[in-house]
Amino acid sequence: MNTQDFVALEEQYGAHNYHPLDVVIEKGEGVWVYDVDGKKYLDCLSAYSAVNQGHVHPKILAALTEQAAKITLTSRAFRNDQLPLLYKELAEISGYEVSLPMNSGAEAVETAIKLARKWGYQVKGIPRHQAEMIVADGNFHGRTISIVSFSSEEFYKDDFGPFTPGFISVSYGDAEAVAAAITPNTAAVMLEPIQGEAGVVVPPEGYLKRVAQICKENNVLLVADEIQTGLGRTGKFFACEHDGVRADITIIGKAMAGGFYPVSAVLADKDILGLFSPGEHGSTFGGNPLGAAVARAALNVIIEEKLVENSEKLGTYFMEQLAEIPSPHVKEVRGKGMLIGVELKEEAGGARRFCEALQERGILAKETHDHVIRFAPPLVIDKETLDSIFPVIRDVLNMP
Ligand SMILES: *Cc1c(COP(=O)(O)O)cnc(C)c1O
Repeated sequence: MNTQDFVALEEQYGAHNYHPLDVVIEKGEGVWVYDVDGKKYLDCLSAYSAVNQGHVHPKILAALTEQAAKITLTSRAFRNDQLPLLYKELAEISGYEVSLPMNSGAEAVETAIKLARKWGYQVKGIPRHQAEMIVADGNFHGRTISIVSFSSEEFYKDDFGPFTPGFISVSYGDAEAVAAAITPNTAAVMLEPIQGEAGVVVPPEGYLKRVAQICKENNVLLVADEIQTGLGRTGKFFACEHDGVRADITIIGKAMAGGFYPVSAVLADKDILGLFSPGEHGSTFGGNPLGAAVARAALNVIIEEKLVENSEKLGTYFMEQLAEIPSPHVKEVRGKGMLIGVELKEEAGGARRFCEALQERGILAKETHDHVIRFAPPLVIDKETLDSIFPVIRDVLNMP
């Protein structure tokens, strides 16, 4: 079977909730992936930053196979010998006292919302079921009903109401808008340090710091969704660190298991995360020994291979090089570390055709919204590989 056969099968038997490029990947190694026709590509999306450690990292693979042969799922009705070690290592790496493991990012976001609301009632004394959460326009936090309830993207919610109340969305990047939206019932402000899905939108410097200050002054929790920006992607372990901010609750997912397995977590200190009592929240698969073993290995790779430092160094270089490419189509190059967006001018005819042209030339990138090409290769990339793609990107950005 070749590419066209697989595409045809997928179109016939699958739901059409994605519009992928027509590349059918069958294997990967590090920054490279290979399609069913034997063509090699540099992956510049990293599965939306879930593969920061590179594809099929041997150490994570070993942890997966070793653990899979022992025990995979115990449920949280019993304890297992991997989760406690993940808890401890996560606390040491992240600086948060405790954590709560889930599977997908959206589940961890839902968990954080429940936690923030509970804190609002139990600690802040908000009247029951009146808690409000402030979010930002352009946000992306996942796809559940509650999460799309506060999306500003009409397309994400059009036919999916009725929606969950209790969310107020304000302009992203404007700290005073957050301050103005706070009421006595505000439990939390939830933000992405950089809005990845909105098109790599970087807020003004000092924005998060100011929001954190406003939260503190008003007895409101700051929740950072670092599912995409965390774990080294932006050149710091958490993107909040760029602003010297430590959120009260931080949500991670994606690269937490290096692309082998869905593992997410909510991180906080005991005074907040300690509010959950047995039975109030849970997940059959969350914290399972296979996921925990994989996450332990994946986190270890980030530290051991200095991926945060590499992201900072080579990401800065990548962005400088991109910014220097002369092109009639480019409006702006922006980002932090290895999370880079190239915004094209309206007249360029959309980012999709540029992504297709890159694909033809062996680089996989994906348009984000209509006009932004996102470049987010695995953090294990080296300078030589990066240098090899600049001429290709230059050619594509100079297409008619
Ligand atoms: C991907 C993402 C999510 C959702 O994660 P899933 O694993 O797809 O549910 C939430 N927030 C941000 C910032 C993301 O990038």
